[in-house]
Amino acid sequence: MDIIANLDQIEANVIRACKEAGCRFEDIEIVAATKCQTSETLAELAKDGRIKIFGENRVQELLEKYREEYTFDIIGQLQTNKVKYIIDKVRLIQSVDRDSLAKEINRLAEKHGKIQKILVEVNSGNEVQKGGVSPDSVEEFVDSLKIYPNIAVVGLMAVAPLGIDERELGKLFTNVYRTYEKLKRENSEIRYLSMGMSHDYELAIRCGANLIRPGRALFGERY
Ligand SMILES: *Cc1c(COP(=O)(O)O)cnc(C)c1O
Repeated sequence: MDIIANLDQIEANVIRACKEAGCRFEDIEIVAATKCQTSETLAELAKDGRIKIFGENRVQELLEKYREEYTFDIIGQLQTNKVKYIIDKVRLIQSVDRDSLAKEINRLAEKHGKIQKILVEVNSGNEVQKGGVSPDSVEEFVDSLKIYPNIAVVGLMAVAPLGIDERELGKLFTNVYRTYEKLKRENSEIRYLSMGMSHDYELAIRCGANLIRPGRALFGERY
């Protein structure tokens, strides 16, 4: 596998999707989903320099690969009792979907003298087993986080349901985009719409995403 060639390809695809969407390549942030990837792989990407952010799913993995010169986001389900390990090590926590988690993030952010930026995770397909706030409750949930002074909601994150066709997925992404736009009109801190993984990032960009999270498209299949 050639990560650098894969990244060239992803960038070319992003440029094409941006043309169709009427956005600019510079407006799209590519966060590499680095779960299961080694420190060596992260070092290779860091050396290339085009990818500025690594997105980790698991706290343990983030801690193992952590280096001060890297920037990490948490993109996977985060257990409340693990916030303490990463609060001083992350740019964004992209997967906030419940009050207990927000409360703990706020508590620890205050302790560390920081305002923690977060994204609210949307369960775009309203799937029972999945994390995320149901699309209908997003605005209410975002509103409820105003009581936490050490949390700044800066956007939304959505994971696509498996096994639905592109048209249906486009509808779900567009639905999340509409909520994002609405929130953005009321809150100038809102600026990230994190949607799109290896198989759907072009569609996500066409639907208004400005942060994408490719994993396999960059690193090859995970074994
Ligand atoms: C694994 C993962 C990705 C990347 O998925 P790929 O299909 O490998 O691109 C992106 N976002 C989240 C939340 C993930 O868990």
